[in-house]
Amino acid sequence: MMEVLKNYINGKWVSSVCTTTKNVVNPANQEITAKVPLGLETGQDMQHAIEAAHNAYLVWKDVPTMKRVQPLFKLKTILENHKEIIARLITNECGKTFAESLGELQRAIENVEVACGAYVMNQSEFSENIAIGIDEFMIRQPLGVCGCITPFNFPGMIPFWFLPYAIATGNAFIIKPSEKVPTTMQYIFELIDKELDLPEGLVNMVHGGKDAVDALLQHPKVKAISFVGSTNVAKYIYTQGAKYGKRVQAQGGAKNPIVIMPDADIEMTTKIIIDSVYGCAGQRCLAASVIIPTGDNKRDFTASLLETARSRKVGFGLEEGIEMGPVITIESKQRIENLIQEGVNEGGKLLLDGRNTTIKNYEKGNFITPTIIEGLPVNGKLLHTEIFGPVMNLINIDKLDQSIEFINKGKYGNMACIFTRDGLAARKFRNEVMAGNIGINIGVAAPVAQFPFSGWKDSFFGDLHGQGRHAIEFFTQTKVVIERWPKNWSRKF
Ligand code: NAD
Repeated sequence: MMEVLKNYINGKWVSSVCTTTKNVVNPANQEITAKVPLGLETGQDMQHAIEAAHNAYLVWKDVPTMKRVQPLFKLKTILENHKEIIARLITNECGKTFAESLGELQRAIENVEVACGAYVMNQSEFSENIAIGIDEFMIRQPLGVCGCITPFNFPGMIPFWFLPYAIATGNAFIIKPSEKVPTTMQYIFELIDKELDLPEGLVNMVHGGKDAVDALLQHPKVKAISFVGSTNVAKYIYTQGAKYGKRVQAQGGAKNPIVIMPDADIEMTTKIIIDSVYGCAGQRCLAASVIIPTGDNKRDFTASLLETARSRKVGFGLEEGIEMGPVITIESKQRIENLIQEGVNEGGKLLLDGRNTTIKNYEKGNFITPTIIEGLPVNGKLLHTEIFGPVMNLINIDKLDQSIEFINKGKYGNMACIFTRDGLAARKFRNEVMAGNIGINIGVAAPVAQFPFSGWKDSFFGDLHGQGRHAIEFFTQTKVVIERWPKNWSRKF
């Protein structure tokens, strides 16, 4: 019988008190790879983890930062040494190609590396003599127990937008991985358990879904929540978090546009856009989905995109030469196929239809091959709905001004990109477009670890983002101290 995944609480592997489980499934062949606890009682597991984390925090907060970052140097090496095994796990549970899995781990490692610099990023600020004999300084102190709730699409990377910064700044941490892809973090926690000498309770992992999340949201000892997932859940986390007095950063969904100016380089632009739209089978919050070729070259760009999309090699991500894997679940495949049909019903023309695909030897997999819908109405529903699958929406807008107007009317603001050789057009785009991540001749404008993973409008709720200095600020609270040392207290030393 397949073993049910255990929680990692207070430095030990413990069985969940919840006896109902959900299968973890390889999306390429429906093979069951694990079982994960999912149900009401996972809230109790979460409460145990919170108590353990709180006790660990009471000691860890006073450990000097220089000492707190030492395990992170080791964690970086551990992740590097086990990169291939972890990448295989990611591909097996999440579906992306092996190269894509390695890519996401690289970004996880970079975040650990950047957090190693916490003793510089978290330094105090000091002003001497703000008035005669009065000095003022600002220090940053940890918050306490912090939790993160992560989505299915980057099981190896997204927890590291938060975890290394949280512990480097003196907090204790709890991760609730996505119930769809829990084995990647399970393995990483096995490594942490075996190879890192962290205090018990400092980092914990609790499996589950909404019930575990609600326990985290409602517990008074939890001080901050980092969330990444769909917009509706992000809004829920943000409002509930506020209700229970937590600091919250909640990243949501996206519908990312790319404008192609007539002067863009066809070959380079095509390759980059195809990678952006179909990379990770379109299940990236920074995947381009709305492509806007402007001006005279529209036909040439459309033909080039069509030809390259058609040639994308789809299959099981661990096989040689595969460029795109399946989508995460059967339900997700069904949802995406329905949305494609909605696009057709709205008047879109299918230039490439990836529905009803079967891949040899993987007939049960959740595959959809690259799809292109052209000519959707700009005010229609689909152009403003996150599809989260390998579907390109090609639309007709002739001018840059109108493109920017269209983009800014959208409800999401995760990423927007432009392809051009014209500096003025690029400058106008980056100044006027309302999105948190902008690409200029870039197809996936994913910030490296020292920059915040931005996001505007319905793509982000909160203030400080994950990664880099923002994460350091998110996981600390400022304290300003003003000291008076009157002159007439002076004496000879
Ligand atoms: P999801 O919102 O379904 O789940 C995310 C997490 O929330 C999971 O851990 C899940 O267990 C939990 N959850 C789900 N429903 C909940 C509820 N009702 N109450 C409390 N917790 C709940 O998202 P997903 O399908 O796993 O991931 C895909 C989504 O994530 C897409 O919308 C994508 O755009 C978004 N995403 C955004 C970013 C970003 O940086 N903005 C990055 C990656 C993914």
